Amino acid sequence: MKVYSFPRGGITINDPAVPQNSSSVVAFLPAISVIPMVQHPGGRAYPIVSVGDLVREGMLIGRGQGSLSANVHASVPGRVIRMVSWKAAGGQNNDALIIRMEGSFEKLGKREEFFPWLGMSAFDLHRTIAEFGIVEMEGSGRPVADMLTSLRNQQGTISLVVRCIFDDPWLAADRLLCRERTQAIAEGAHIMCRAGRMGRIVFALSQGETELGSRLMEEASRWEIPISLVYTGSRYPQRNQRELELVLRSFGKKENVELGSLLMLGPATLAAIHDAVAYRKPILDRYVAVGGSAVRKPQVMKVRIGTRIGEIFAECGGFVDKPRKIASGSPVLGRAVVDLDEPVIKTSYAVFALLEAHAQPRRNCISCGECRTVCPVGLDPEELYKNARAAGRNASRKPGISGSDSCHGCGCCDVVCPSRLALSQAILGMA
Ligand code: SF4
Ligand code: SF4
Repeated sequence: MKVYSFPRGGITINDPAVPQNSSSVVAFLPAISVIPMVQHPGGRAYPIVSVGDLVREGMLIGRGQGSLSANVHASVPGRVIRMVSWKAAGGQNNDALIIRMEGSFEKLGKREEFFPWLGMSAFDLHRTIAEFGIVEMEGSGRPVADMLTSLRNQQGTISLVVRCIFDDPWLAADRLLCRERTQAIAEGAHIMCRAGRMGRIVFALSQGETELGSRLMEEASRWEIPISLVYTGSRYPQRNQRELELVLRSFGKKENVELGSLLMLGPATLAAIHDAVAYRKPILDRYVAVGGSAVRKPQVMKVRIGTRIGEIFAECGGFVDKPRKIASGSPVLGRAVVDLDEPVIKTSYAVFALLEAHAQPRRNCISCGECRTVCPVGLDPEELYKNARAAGRNASRKPGISGSDSCHGCGCCDVVCPSRLALSQAILGMA
Protein backbone atom coordinates (compact mmCIF):
# COMPACT_ATOMS: atom_id res chain seq x y z
CA MET A 1 0.00 0.00 0.00
CA LYS A 2 1.46 3.33 -1.08
CA VAL A 3 1.28 6.07 1.55
CA TYR A 4 1.39 9.70 0.41
CA SER A 5 2.86 12.27 2.79
CA PHE A 6 3.66 15.96 2.48
CA PRO A 7 7.37 16.50 1.89
CA ARG A 8 8.67 18.46 4.86
CA GLY A 9 7.99 19.56 8.41
CA GLY A 10 5.01 18.60 10.51
CA ILE A 11 4.83 17.00 13.92
CA THR A 12 3.61 13.78 15.50
CA ILE A 13 1.07 14.47 18.21
CA ASN A 14 0.53 12.01 21.06
CA ASP A 15 -1.75 12.78 23.95
CA PRO A 16 -2.65 10.20 26.62
CA ALA A 17 -5.50 12.42 27.84
CA VAL A 18 -7.54 11.85 24.68
CA PRO A 19 -10.60 9.61 25.15
CA GLN A 20 -10.04 6.02 23.99
CA ASN A 21 -13.53 4.49 24.11
CA SER A 22 -14.38 2.10 21.30
CA SER A 23 -17.99 3.27 20.96
CA SER A 24 -19.65 6.62 21.62
CA VAL A 25 -21.57 7.32 24.83
CA VAL A 26 -24.90 9.09 24.43
CA ALA A 27 -24.96 12.16 26.69
CA PHE A 28 -27.98 13.02 28.82
CA LEU A 29 -30.49 15.26 27.09
CA PRO A 30 -30.06 18.83 28.33
CA ALA A 31 -32.86 20.12 30.57
CA ILE A 32 -31.82 23.60 29.41
CA SER A 33 -30.25 24.10 26.01
CA VAL A 34 -28.53 27.20 24.66
CA ILE A 35 -28.91 27.54 20.88
CA PRO A 36 -26.71 30.31 19.42
CA MET A 37 -27.91 32.19 16.35
CA VAL A 38 -24.33 32.26 15.02
CA GLN A 39 -22.82 28.85 14.31
CA HIS A 40 -21.39 29.86 10.93
CA PRO A 41 -19.09 32.65 9.64
CA GLY A 42 -21.82 34.90 8.16
CA GLY A 43 -24.45 37.13 9.78
CA ARG A 44 -26.58 35.86 12.67
CA ALA A 45 -29.65 33.81 11.91
CA TYR A 46 -32.81 35.82 12.57
CA PRO A 47 -34.87 34.26 15.41
CA ILE A 48 -38.39 33.34 14.23
CA VAL A 49 -39.72 32.28 17.63
CA SER A 50 -40.29 34.38 20.73
CA VAL A 51 -39.92 33.95 24.46
CA GLY A 52 -42.81 31.79 25.69
CA ASP A 53 -43.22 29.84 22.41
CA LEU A 54 -43.22 26.07 22.34
CA VAL A 55 -40.79 24.53 19.85
CA ARG A 56 -40.58 21.01 18.45
CA GLU A 57 -37.46 18.86 18.15
CA GLY A 58 -35.76 19.82 14.88
CA MET A 59 -37.98 22.87 14.30
CA LEU A 60 -36.56 25.88 12.46
CA ILE A 61 -36.01 28.62 15.07
CA GLY A 62 -33.53 30.95 13.33
CA ARG A 63 -33.47 31.82 9.64
CA GLY A 64 -30.07 32.36 7.99
CA GLN A 65 -29.64 35.75 6.37
CA GLY A 66 -27.45 36.15 3.31
CA SER A 67 -24.23 34.49 2.31
CA LEU A 68 -22.31 32.37 4.84
CA SER A 69 -25.29 32.37 7.19
CA ALA A 70 -27.26 29.17 7.95
CA ASN A 71 -30.62 28.17 9.38
CA VAL A 72 -30.70 27.16 13.05
CA HIS A 73 -32.98 24.48 14.52
CA ALA A 74 -34.13 23.43 18.00
CA SER A 75 -32.27 20.30 19.12
CA VAL A 76 -34.86 19.40 21.77
CA PRO A 77 -38.57 20.06 22.18
CA GLY A 78 -39.43 22.67 24.78
CA ARG A 79 -40.31 26.23 25.61
CA VAL A 80 -38.22 29.29 24.77
CA ILE A 81 -37.64 30.84 28.17
CA ARG A 82 -35.13 33.56 27.36
CA MET A 83 -32.91 35.23 24.77
CA VAL A 84 -29.38 36.06 25.85
CA SER A 85 -26.49 37.87 24.23
CA TRP A 86 -22.79 37.92 25.05
CA LYS A 87 -19.40 38.77 23.68
CA ALA A 88 -17.47 35.67 22.55
CA ALA A 89 -13.78 35.16 23.42
CA GLY A 90 -12.80 36.53 19.99
CA GLY A 91 -14.79 39.73 20.63
CA GLN A 92 -17.74 38.88 18.32
CA ASN A 93 -21.30 39.48 19.50
CA ASN A 94 -23.47 36.41 19.77
CA ASP A 95 -26.96 35.70 21.00
CA ALA A 96 -28.87 32.56 21.77
CA LEU A 97 -32.31 31.17 22.53
CA ILE A 98 -32.58 29.32 25.82
CA ILE A 99 -34.95 26.35 25.58
CA ARG A 100 -36.30 24.48 28.61
CA MET A 101 -36.98 20.90 27.57
CA GLU A 102 -40.62 19.82 27.69
CA GLY A 103 -43.03 17.85 25.51
CA SER A 104 -42.32 14.79 23.41
CA PHE A 105 -39.54 13.96 20.99
CA GLU A 106 -40.54 13.49 17.36
CA LYS A 107 -37.27 11.97 16.20
CA LEU A 108 -35.41 10.56 19.22
CA GLY A 109 -36.16 6.86 19.70
CA LYS A 110 -38.39 6.72 16.60
CA ARG A 111 -37.64 4.71 13.49
CA GLU A 112 -36.25 7.16 10.94
CA GLU A 113 -38.35 7.60 7.81
CA PHE A 114 -36.20 7.28 4.69
CA PHE A 115 -36.82 9.78 1.87
CA PRO A 116 -35.55 8.35 -1.44
CA TRP A 117 -33.20 10.92 -2.93
CA LEU A 118 -31.99 9.24 -6.12
CA GLY A 119 -34.73 10.92 -8.14
CA MET A 120 -34.03 14.39 -6.71
CA SER A 121 -32.46 17.04 -8.93
CA ALA A 122 -29.22 18.82 -8.01
CA PHE A 123 -31.30 21.93 -7.35
CA ASP A 124 -33.63 20.13 -4.90
CA LEU A 125 -30.71 18.52 -3.07
CA HIS A 126 -29.04 21.92 -2.77
CA ARG A 127 -32.25 23.48 -1.44
CA THR A 128 -32.75 20.68 1.12
CA ILE A 129 -29.17 21.03 2.38
CA ALA A 130 -29.75 24.80 2.79
CA GLU A 131 -33.14 24.32 4.47
CA PHE A 132 -31.68 22.05 7.16
CA GLY A 133 -28.84 24.47 7.93
CA ILE A 134 -26.00 22.07 7.13
CA VAL A 135 -22.57 23.61 7.68
CA GLU A 136 -19.05 22.28 7.48
CA MET A 137 -18.80 20.79 10.96
CA GLU A 138 -15.25 21.94 11.61
CA GLY A 139 -13.40 25.21 11.23
CA SER A 140 -15.63 28.24 10.89
CA GLY A 141 -18.77 26.28 9.93
CA ARG A 142 -19.14 27.46 6.34
CA PRO A 143 -22.63 26.58 5.04
CA VAL A 144 -22.54 23.67 2.59
CA ALA A 145 -25.20 25.41 0.45
CA ASP A 146 -22.73 28.29 -0.10
CA MET A 147 -20.07 25.82 -1.21
CA LEU A 148 -22.52 24.32 -3.70
CA THR A 149 -23.38 27.78 -5.02
CA SER A 150 -19.71 28.56 -5.59
CA LEU A 151 -19.31 25.31 -7.58
CA ARG A 152 -22.02 26.32 -10.06
CA ASN A 153 -19.78 28.34 -12.35
CA GLN A 154 -16.78 26.09 -12.03
CA GLN A 155 -15.62 24.43 -15.25
CA GLY A 156 -13.95 21.03 -15.64
CA THR A 157 -13.68 18.06 -13.30
CA ILE A 158 -14.39 18.53 -9.60
CA SER A 159 -13.57 15.82 -7.03
CA LEU A 160 -15.07 15.53 -3.57
CA VAL A 161 -12.40 14.66 -1.01
CA VAL A 162 -13.62 12.93 2.16
CA ARG A 163 -11.10 13.72 4.87
CA CYS A 164 -10.87 10.67 7.14
CA ILE A 165 -7.43 11.73 8.30
CA PHE A 166 -6.65 11.64 11.99
CA ASP A 167 -3.37 13.54 12.28
CA ASP A 168 -4.39 14.88 15.68
CA PRO A 169 -5.59 12.49 18.43
CA TRP A 170 -8.21 15.09 19.36
CA LEU A 171 -10.07 14.05 16.20
CA ALA A 172 -11.17 10.99 18.22
CA ALA A 173 -14.83 11.94 17.70
CA ASP A 174 -14.47 11.92 13.91
CA ARG A 175 -12.66 8.60 14.07
CA LEU A 176 -15.47 7.01 16.07
CA LEU A 177 -18.10 8.58 13.83
CA CYS A 178 -16.38 6.97 10.82
CA ARG A 179 -16.68 3.58 12.45
CA GLU A 180 -20.28 4.00 13.60
CA ARG A 181 -21.71 5.82 10.57
CA THR A 182 -19.71 4.53 7.60
CA GLN A 183 -22.78 3.99 5.45
CA ALA A 184 -24.15 7.50 6.10
CA ILE A 185 -20.76 9.05 5.26
CA ALA A 186 -20.50 7.14 1.95
CA GLU A 187 -24.08 7.98 1.03
CA GLY A 188 -23.61 11.60 2.08
CA ALA A 189 -20.62 11.78 -0.28
CA HIS A 190 -22.80 10.59 -3.15
CA ILE A 191 -25.54 13.07 -2.32
CA MET A 192 -22.96 15.87 -2.25
CA CYS A 193 -21.49 14.78 -5.60
CA ARG A 194 -24.91 14.81 -7.18
CA ALA A 195 -25.83 18.19 -5.67
CA GLY A 196 -22.53 19.72 -6.83
CA ARG A 197 -22.24 17.79 -10.11
CA MET A 198 -18.90 16.43 -9.00
CA GLY A 199 -17.32 13.59 -10.96
CA ARG A 200 -15.27 11.64 -8.43
CA ILE A 201 -15.07 10.77 -4.75
CA VAL A 202 -11.66 10.54 -3.12
CA PHE A 203 -11.58 8.89 0.29
CA ALA A 204 -8.39 10.18 1.94
CA LEU A 205 -7.52 8.07 4.96
CA SER A 206 -4.69 7.96 7.46
CA GLN A 207 -2.35 5.03 6.92
CA GLY A 208 -3.46 2.05 8.99
CA GLU A 209 -7.18 2.77 8.46
CA THR A 210 -7.44 -0.08 5.96
CA GLU A 211 -10.56 -1.61 7.50
CA LEU A 212 -12.36 1.74 7.29
CA GLY A 213 -11.11 2.12 3.70
CA SER A 214 -12.58 -1.26 2.71
CA ARG A 215 -15.90 -0.49 4.37
CA LEU A 216 -16.17 2.93 2.70
CA MET A 217 -15.37 1.39 -0.69
CA GLU A 218 -17.93 -1.35 -0.15
CA GLU A 219 -20.65 1.15 0.77
CA ALA A 220 -19.74 3.64 -1.96
CA SER A 221 -19.49 1.12 -4.79
CA ARG A 222 -23.29 0.83 -4.81
CA TRP A 223 -23.39 3.99 -6.91
CA GLU A 224 -21.88 4.55 -10.31
CA ILE A 225 -19.23 7.16 -9.73
CA PRO A 226 -15.44 6.84 -9.93
CA ILE A 227 -13.92 6.39 -6.48
CA SER A 228 -10.30 6.63 -5.35
CA LEU A 229 -8.84 5.52 -2.05
CA VAL A 230 -5.72 7.37 -0.96
CA TYR A 231 -3.75 6.56 2.20
CA THR A 232 -1.85 9.47 3.67
CA GLY A 233 0.74 9.91 6.37
CA SER A 234 -0.45 10.66 9.91
CA ARG A 235 1.87 13.55 10.65
CA TYR A 236 0.07 16.77 11.61
CA PRO A 237 -1.06 18.86 9.61
CA GLN A 238 -1.79 16.19 6.97
CA ARG A 239 -5.54 16.92 7.16
CA ASN A 240 -4.94 20.58 6.37
CA GLN A 241 -6.19 21.70 2.95
CA ARG A 242 -2.74 22.65 1.66
CA GLU A 243 -0.89 19.51 2.77
CA LEU A 244 -3.73 17.25 1.65
CA GLU A 245 -3.87 18.88 -1.77
CA LEU A 246 -0.10 18.34 -2.13
CA VAL A 247 -0.40 14.60 -1.57
CA LEU A 248 -3.52 14.24 -3.72
CA ARG A 249 -1.80 15.98 -6.64
CA SER A 250 1.10 13.59 -6.21
CA PHE A 251 -1.34 10.63 -6.16
CA GLY A 252 -3.13 11.92 -9.29
CA LYS A 253 0.14 12.24 -11.16
CA LYS A 254 1.45 8.84 -10.13
CA GLU A 255 -1.80 6.98 -10.79
CA ASN A 256 -2.75 9.06 -13.82
CA VAL A 257 -6.07 10.12 -12.25
CA GLU A 258 -7.58 13.45 -13.32
CA LEU A 259 -8.81 14.99 -10.07
CA GLY A 260 -9.47 18.57 -11.26
CA SER A 261 -10.58 21.00 -8.56
CA LEU A 262 -10.92 19.63 -5.06
CA LEU A 263 -13.69 20.20 -2.53
CA MET A 264 -12.76 18.80 0.88
CA LEU A 265 -15.26 17.83 3.55
CA GLY A 266 -14.98 15.90 6.82
CA PRO A 267 -16.98 12.80 7.75
CA ALA A 268 -19.27 14.60 10.22
CA THR A 269 -20.41 17.02 7.51
CA LEU A 270 -21.16 14.19 5.09
CA ALA A 271 -23.15 12.28 7.70
CA ALA A 272 -25.14 15.49 8.35
CA ILE A 273 -25.78 15.94 4.60
CA HIS A 274 -27.04 12.37 4.49
CA ASP A 275 -29.38 12.91 7.46
CA ALA A 276 -30.76 16.16 5.99
CA VAL A 277 -31.56 14.61 2.62
CA ALA A 278 -32.40 11.00 3.51
CA TYR A 279 -34.13 11.63 6.88
CA ARG A 280 -35.13 15.32 6.57
CA LYS A 281 -33.29 15.98 9.81
CA PRO A 282 -31.19 19.02 10.80
CA ILE A 283 -28.04 18.70 12.88
CA LEU A 284 -29.41 17.75 16.29
CA ASP A 285 -26.27 16.32 17.84
CA ARG A 286 -22.52 16.14 17.48
CA TYR A 287 -19.86 13.56 18.36
CA VAL A 288 -17.56 15.35 20.82
CA ALA A 289 -14.29 14.12 22.39
CA VAL A 290 -14.20 15.18 26.04
CA GLY A 291 -10.88 14.83 27.85
CA GLY A 292 -7.68 16.40 29.10
CA SER A 293 -5.60 15.82 32.22
CA ALA A 294 -8.19 17.49 34.49
CA VAL A 295 -11.10 15.27 33.39
CA ARG A 296 -11.82 12.22 35.51
CA LYS A 297 -13.22 9.99 32.76
CA PRO A 298 -12.43 11.10 29.19
CA GLN A 299 -14.87 9.79 26.59
CA VAL A 300 -16.32 10.45 23.15
CA MET A 301 -19.94 11.47 23.58
CA LYS A 302 -22.85 12.03 21.29
CA VAL A 303 -24.10 15.37 22.55
CA ARG A 304 -27.20 17.40 21.67
CA ILE A 305 -26.43 20.80 20.13
CA GLY A 306 -27.00 23.42 22.83
CA THR A 307 -25.80 21.25 25.74
CA ARG A 308 -23.67 23.34 28.06
CA ILE A 309 -19.99 22.36 28.20
CA GLY A 310 -20.06 22.26 32.03
CA GLU A 311 -22.73 19.54 31.84
CA ILE A 312 -20.68 17.28 29.63
CA PHE A 313 -17.65 17.61 31.88
CA ALA A 314 -19.91 16.68 34.80
CA GLU A 315 -21.08 13.61 32.89
CA CYS A 316 -17.43 12.60 32.48
CA GLY A 317 -17.06 12.45 36.27
CA GLY A 318 -16.08 16.10 36.70
CA PHE A 319 -12.54 17.37 37.33
CA VAL A 320 -9.81 15.64 39.34
CA ASP A 321 -8.57 19.09 40.35
CA LYS A 322 -9.17 22.71 39.35
CA PRO A 323 -8.33 23.01 35.62
CA ARG A 324 -5.92 25.72 34.55
CA LYS A 325 -7.15 25.78 31.00
CA ILE A 326 -10.47 24.85 29.37
CA ALA A 327 -10.77 25.01 25.62
CA SER A 328 -12.71 23.79 22.63
CA GLY A 329 -10.98 22.07 19.68
CA SER A 330 -7.50 20.66 19.77
CA PRO A 331 -4.71 21.80 22.14
CA VAL A 332 -2.79 22.83 18.98
CA LEU A 333 -5.42 25.21 17.65
CA GLY A 334 -8.04 25.32 20.40
CA ARG A 335 -10.15 28.28 21.44
CA ALA A 336 -10.40 29.14 25.13
CA VAL A 337 -13.73 28.47 26.80
CA VAL A 338 -14.39 31.35 29.19
CA ASP A 339 -17.71 30.17 30.56
CA LEU A 340 -18.85 26.59 31.23
CA ASP A 341 -22.36 27.68 30.16
CA GLU A 342 -21.05 27.94 26.58
CA PRO A 343 -22.89 25.39 24.49
CA VAL A 344 -21.80 22.66 22.11
CA ILE A 345 -22.48 23.94 18.59
CA LYS A 346 -22.40 22.40 15.11
CA THR A 347 -18.62 22.86 14.78
CA SER A 348 -17.62 21.55 18.25
CA TYR A 349 -15.62 18.34 17.98
CA ALA A 350 -13.61 18.31 21.21
CA VAL A 351 -13.52 20.02 24.58
CA PHE A 352 -10.71 19.60 27.04
CA ALA A 353 -9.61 20.74 30.47
CA LEU A 354 -5.94 20.78 31.47
CA LEU A 355 -4.25 20.86 34.84
CA GLU A 356 -0.83 21.94 33.58
CA ALA A 357 -1.53 24.84 31.22
CA HIS A 358 0.79 27.83 31.49
CA ALA A 359 3.05 26.03 33.94
CA GLN A 360 6.06 27.71 32.36
CA PRO A 361 6.28 31.42 31.55
CA ARG A 362 7.15 32.67 28.06
CA ARG A 363 10.81 33.46 27.46
CA ASN A 364 12.81 35.15 24.75
CA CYS A 365 13.71 33.30 21.57
CA ILE A 366 16.86 31.23 22.03
CA SER A 367 17.35 30.72 18.26
CA CYS A 368 17.21 26.95 18.60
CA GLY A 369 15.74 26.58 15.08
CA GLU A 370 13.08 24.01 16.09
CA CYS A 371 10.32 26.08 14.49
CA ARG A 372 12.08 26.02 11.11
CA THR A 373 12.38 22.23 11.23
CA VAL A 374 8.65 21.65 11.63
CA CYS A 375 7.17 24.32 9.35
CA PRO A 376 5.50 22.39 6.49
CA VAL A 377 5.65 25.45 4.23
CA GLY A 378 9.39 25.92 4.68
CA LEU A 379 9.09 29.32 6.36
CA ASP A 380 11.35 30.71 9.05
CA PRO A 381 8.85 31.32 11.87
CA GLU A 382 11.51 32.85 14.12
CA GLU A 383 12.29 35.55 11.58
CA LEU A 384 8.62 36.12 10.71
CA TYR A 385 7.80 36.42 14.40
CA LYS A 386 10.54 38.95 14.99
CA ASN A 387 9.51 40.94 11.91
CA ALA A 388 5.89 40.89 13.01
CA ARG A 389 6.75 42.10 16.50
CA ALA A 390 8.93 44.83 15.08
CA ALA A 391 6.28 45.94 12.62
CA GLY A 392 3.65 46.15 15.33
CA ARG A 393 0.30 44.60 15.90
CA ASN A 394 -1.67 43.53 12.78
CA ALA A 395 1.02 44.84 10.45
CA SER A 396 2.70 41.53 9.69
CA ARG A 397 0.65 40.91 6.56
CA LYS A 398 1.54 44.20 4.91
CA PRO A 399 3.41 43.58 1.64
CA GLY A 400 7.14 43.98 2.04
CA ILE A 401 7.16 43.53 5.80
CA SER A 402 7.37 39.74 5.83
CA GLY A 403 6.53 36.56 3.93
CA SER A 404 3.76 35.70 6.35
CA ASP A 405 1.11 35.36 3.62
CA SER A 406 2.29 31.79 3.07
CA CYS A 407 1.66 30.84 6.71
CA HIS A 408 -1.57 28.85 7.03
CA GLY A 409 -1.61 28.91 10.80
CA CYS A 410 -1.09 25.18 11.44
CA GLY A 411 0.55 25.95 14.80
CA CYS A 412 3.40 23.40 14.45
CA CYS A 413 5.94 26.12 15.34
CA ASP A 414 3.99 27.03 18.51
CA VAL A 415 3.98 23.41 19.68
CA VAL A 416 7.74 22.91 19.45
CA CYS A 417 8.95 26.34 20.61
CA PRO A 418 10.78 25.80 23.95
CA SER A 419 10.27 29.48 24.77
CA ARG A 420 6.48 29.05 24.43
CA LEU A 421 6.18 31.97 22.04
CA ALA A 422 2.81 32.45 20.31
CA LEU A 423 4.51 32.44 16.91
CA SER A 424 1.61 31.70 14.57
CA GLN A 425 -0.64 34.32 16.18
CA ALA A 426 2.02 36.99 15.80
CA ILE A 427 2.81 35.93 12.23
CA LEU A 428 -0.87 36.03 11.27
CA GLY A 429 -1.31 39.40 12.93
CA MET A 430 -3.55 38.16 15.76
CA ALA A 431 -1.27 39.01 18.67
S1 SF4 B 1 11.47 27.48 18.29
FE1 SF4 B 1 11.11 29.33 19.51
S2 SF4 B 1 13.03 29.64 20.60
FE2 SF4 B 1 13.49 28.22 18.90
S3 SF4 B 1 14.12 29.56 17.19
FE3 SF4 B 1 11.93 29.24 16.95
S4 SF4 B 1 11.04 31.00 18.03
FE4 SF4 B 1 13.15 30.87 18.71
S1 SF4 C 1 1.94 28.28 11.80
FE1 SF4 C 1 2.80 29.16 9.89
S2 SF4 C 1 4.96 29.54 10.35
FE2 SF4 C 1 4.17 28.16 11.95
S3 SF4 C 1 4.65 26.12 11.22
FE3 SF4 C 1 2.58 26.54 10.50
S4 SF4 C 1 2.82 27.43 8.46
FE4 SF4 C 1 4.86 27.49 9.44
